[in-house]
Amino acid sequence: MIVKSLKEVKELFPLTEEEERAFKEVVKVYPFSSTVYYLELARKSLAVRKMLLPSLLEIDPSVQGRGEEDPLREERDFKVPLLTHRYPDRVLIITTNYCPVLCRYCMRKRNWKKGVFYITEREIERCLKYIADNPKVRDVLISGGEPLLIPAEKLERLLIGLKSIDHVEVVRIGTRLPVVWPERVLEPELLSLLEKAQKVWVNTHFNHPDEITPLSKEAVLALLKRGIPVNNQAVLLKGVNDSVGVIEKLLRELQKIKVRPYYLFHCDPVKGVMHFSTSITKGLDILRELFKRLSPLAIPYYAVDGPGGYGKVPLLPQRFKKLGNFYEFEAYDGRLFTMEDR
Ligand SMILES: *Cc1c(COP(=O)(O)O)cnc(C)c1O
Repeated sequence: MIVKSLKEVKELFPLTEEEERAFKEVVKVYPFSSTVYYLELARKSLAVRKMLLPSLLEIDPSVQGRGEEDPLREERDFKVPLLTHRYPDRVLIITTNYCPVLCRYCMRKRNWKKGVFYITEREIERCLKYIADNPKVRDVLISGGEPLLIPAEKLERLLIGLKSIDHVEVVRIGTRLPVVWPERVLEPELLSLLEKAQKVWVNTHFNHPDEITPLSKEAVLALLKRGIPVNNQAVLLKGVNDSVGVIEKLLRELQKIKVRPYYLFHCDPVKGVMHFSTSITKGLDILRELFKRLSPLAIPYYAVDGPGGYGKVPLLPQRFKKLGNFYEFEAYDGRLFTMEDR
């Protein structure tokens, strides 16, 4: 099911000479991994191919020079091992660095070089204790790697442990499984655990309309049926989805499968990923145009994550300004109107 070598990839579909050369060079630094399912998508979609196949730009110092390994300072801010507590009411737990599909734009690419780790039983207990001792924490994000693929007993201990802490109201699992390996989401044991854990929301990660397939739709609907809300966090990626047309289609297709777009992230300045960066101005221009075409129900926040560990800033296009005792607003079609501030 998991494909790692050039030989196995080539058995599924032919690579161009350039792709093959890049594969051989780049995997020495940043390995390759994919499910067969996602490789099949890459065969048909140029956008998926760009997210999945190694590129020489990843190791080109003139492109990557300004990138950092961990610009968001996730590791500096660990309160107990693997737990980051940045905002007052929510914490992030990194449960593993294992992912079946290594996205070339991964913000945690630094962790690829370490051996595979999974959160240990002891670390789970320490995280649970930290959260139990901090009543302000009401929202726990479970991330990775791919958190839904940690050993089942550990996932169960973590989720059931969080269920029994009263002040934890929301448990968000950040998973790309519905996109890259939907069959795995459909496993009844996994779905039952997520349902039993009660507080679970899934934040998944579709970046391009080509990733929305009948099978990924089935995976999402299975989660929804169990009472698990599904939201989406996309990343704006140069050459993949950095146009209004593609993003608009992605958002419409997400709405069709009842996935609520939550964030569209500006690409973080991560070493090995800089070639996917667009400008912030481009992101804002796309966002402004979306509001002319779509209901806000289908529009995510465009968010920058402050390098240095400042956290995320969700952005909406600025469509009003204050003029003395009046506000001037911009309507969906560009006309201006004012309202008195009283
Ligand atoms: C992203 C993130 C969160 C969650 O942020 P939201 O804006 O609520 O989605 C929490 N903690 C850390 C460290 C994060 O990076």
